[in-house]
Amino acid sequence: MPERLGLAKQSNRRVVFADFRAGRPENLYAKIATRLAVFIANPHFVSFLTITNLTTAIVCFGFKQNPLQASIFLALSIWQAFCIITSKPCFTIAKPMNPPNRQIIIDDTTLRDGEQSAGVVFSLEEKLAIATQLSALGVPELEIGIPAMGVVEREEIQAIASLGLPSQLLVWSRMRHDDLQACVGLDVQKVDLSISASDQHIQHKLKQSRAWVLQTINTLVSKATDLGFEVCVGMEDASRADADFLVQMAEAAQWAGATRIRFADTVGIMEPFGVFAAIKQLRAATDLDIEMHAHDDLGLATANTLAAALAGATHVNTTVNGLGERAGNAALEEVVVGLQQLYGFDTGVLLGDFPALSALVANASGDAIGSRKSLVGANVFSHEAGIHVDGLLKDPNNYQGVDPAIVGRHHQLVLGKHSGTQGVIHAYQQLGIHVNRQQAQGLLAKVWRFVCEHKHTPDALSLKGFL
Ligand SMILES: [Zn+2]
Repeated sequence: MPERLGLAKQSNRRVVFADFRAGRPENLYAKIATRLAVFIANPHFVSFLTITNLTTAIVCFGFKQNPLQASIFLALSIWQAFCIITSKPCFTIAKPMNPPNRQIIIDDTTLRDGEQSAGVVFSLEEKLAIATQLSALGVPELEIGIPAMGVVEREEIQAIASLGLPSQLLVWSRMRHDDLQACVGLDVQKVDLSISASDQHIQHKLKQSRAWVLQTINTLVSKATDLGFEVCVGMEDASRADADFLVQMAEAAQWAGATRIRFADTVGIMEPFGVFAAIKQLRAATDLDIEMHAHDDLGLATANTLAAALAGATHVNTTVNGLGERAGNAALEEVVVGLQQLYGFDTGVLLGDFPALSALVANASGDAIGSRKSLVGANVFSHEAGIHVDGLLKDPNNYQGVDPAIVGRHHQLVLGKHSGTQGVIHAYQQLGIHVNRQQAQGLLAKVWRFVCEHKHTPDALSLKGFL
């Protein structure tokens, strides 16, 4: 029987049924046995036994007292048994990771960490335009600068604040008395007070001790709250910090009156599973809001940000186009679409007008967007291959992972070396010219010659010239 069943324990939670042939009576028993094995392997089986035993007891007792009630419990028991055999979910066995539609607050730092990119400087006009457009998309929080940088920076922060945008504004500050003092009087109520969390930074950058860090949090956060600020404690280099010390920092922050901690993967070395575990541990240890700050050195900033949200982070940092120090930060557009499309998290951000903001930031930063950059690159919704073009023309869902309309774009069908006749017919249709399949075959040869020679798709004039 075991050989026939082919039960293979894949993990401590899952059993795979490998050798089931439909239609043979003995295999019905095998199927039932497998379903039961799968169910027993589930850690919630104990809960099921409890419910069943309780139900049985109530039924036995209830027939004497209240036959109607007892009949209902009996029916429920039969339904549970049926569900086991057919593998239908009779009740929620595994708790979903997150309740649907939990809101994640986007705290966009294009104007702070984005501008911190090497060689990037935004003019005041550009800052005002970027802040206005971010706010218009519905981004709820904007980190808009570093007051300690000087008079000009403070004036520009004030200018952004004077716009009266619906977004909440934050400024960034080192956790120092003089830097905090520079944040006063700018009409910005929120401040991220950043202090090193890793021993690497504490010993080799600050030349201090962990006790000093905790004491500084206590002193500076208390002072900031006395000044009327809502405080987020930025845990710099948290990714290399001792997990227990992060909890101590969170406790100190909360005790001193902070409302949020920021987990900064300052050097961009984390991966999603590690982020999930780290944020999960913090989530269990503190009631504070938790913000994820990811860098893209390993190309994982967005993945790490999504993992943090799944693990219980309430806030996430982003930048437009993923602008930011070194390899950049988590891209606003990727995070918003990923949170919504993959997990159903609501951010309140609508990206229909995002291309204009994306272009504005690209121009203002002098940092051109790669043509293959997800969601915003020039070519990411372009299709050339004959099979794909034919499938898209029949139904966009055939080859559409992300609806380009979400980010204010649309599919582009281009002609090239891999085009087919449908693509040619469609291209000429766009020019108001009807060509039949036979004509398209001939035109296809001319298209191929053109792209091989010029290494780009033919424009309207060239297409008309082929006729
Ligand atoms: Zn950063």
